[in-house]
Amino acid sequence: SKPILHLDTLRMVYNADPGFLSRLTGRADPPVIAADDVTLELHAGETLAVVGESGSGKTTAGRIATLQERPTSGGVLYEGQEVTGLTGAALKAFRAKVQMIFQNPYDALNPRLTVSQSLAEPLMLHGLVPRSGLRAAVLEMLEAVELRPAESFADAFPSELSGGQLQRIAIARALIIKPMVVIADEPVSMLDVSIRSGVMNLMRGIQRDTGVTYLYITHDLSVARYMADRIAVMYLGAVLEEGPAESLISAAAHPYTRLLIEAAPEHRATAVKRNRIRLPGDAASQSGLPPGCRFHPRCPLAQPICREKAPPRAALGGGQTASCHFAHEVKKTGLATMTTA
Ligand code: SF4
Repeated sequence: SKPILHLDTLRMVYNADPGFLSRLTGRADPPVIAADDVTLELHAGETLAVVGESGSGKTTAGRIATLQERPTSGGVLYEGQEVTGLTGAALKAFRAKVQMIFQNPYDALNPRLTVSQSLAEPLMLHGLVPRSGLRAAVLEMLEAVELRPAESFADAFPSELSGGQLQRIAIARALIIKPMVVIADEPVSMLDVSIRSGVMNLMRGIQRDTGVTYLYITHDLSVARYMADRIAVMYLGAVLEEGPAESLISAAAHPYTRLLIEAAPEHRATAVKRNRIRLPGDAASQSGLPPGCRFHPRCPLAQPICREKAPPRAALGGGQTASCHFAHEVKKTGLATMTTA
């Protein structure tokens, strides 16, 4: 089926502002490649999680998907229609269909407005509900995000609410205009661990009830596994692996995904007694990408070919793809692949 939202070979290059040192030396900083041929397809009613460390480009992909940023090249298609260059009324209509939830709920809410005013605002902006119906729509939405009694939450100010309650209101604000797609960028990572699953379950319940589609951006693979039907793993601006959540977790075909799984919290609990399992090496920066496979400086399986040739995207069946020269072997035998060869 046709994707509802399609990010088509996006490339996003930022030219760094010449800093003090480079002005002094006359050497320009290299451009930062925040997205390098990123293609993601979002299908109606599903959740696609985009997983990556900071600097992976996952947030850039989300910002382009909501047209907060325009890509250097490549396009965004909504229901098959090119939307990349939209402005004015057409952009506003697109925004009514594709909403965003941010990591920090404080950013989404004006501290001087009551909850009711904050929730009514998008309804008025998009002219969706007559003024006389605003209060009822707000109360209904507060019920949907399980803030009860709705009447007393409606008249509260953000400063009177907890972080978890505020994030529920930010979710309500994004969903009150009944968008088709919601891009959620780390919506629970700032919340107390004890209330995260409540917010995730709320989002899943709303999806069951409304059929809304989620693009869920997270650094946490276990969160992705819990939330998503499909997972895309990003690293230094590129998608390294993608596939149905279950096959990607149980039979990852990219060494980076394997390392992320080993580093995931539920794995860590039973893993060798180390305080922290860390990926070897530092994430290279998006400027000055290494030649060949962009993951080779950190890859425990790297071979000479990996330094010379960028790996093609290998199709592994069942919708799983991975950009590694040894994807088929890694899928079968994991990180033992080379050491047993
Ligand atoms: Fe590692 Fe080579 Fe695969 Fe890159 S192509 S992930 S360096 S084995």
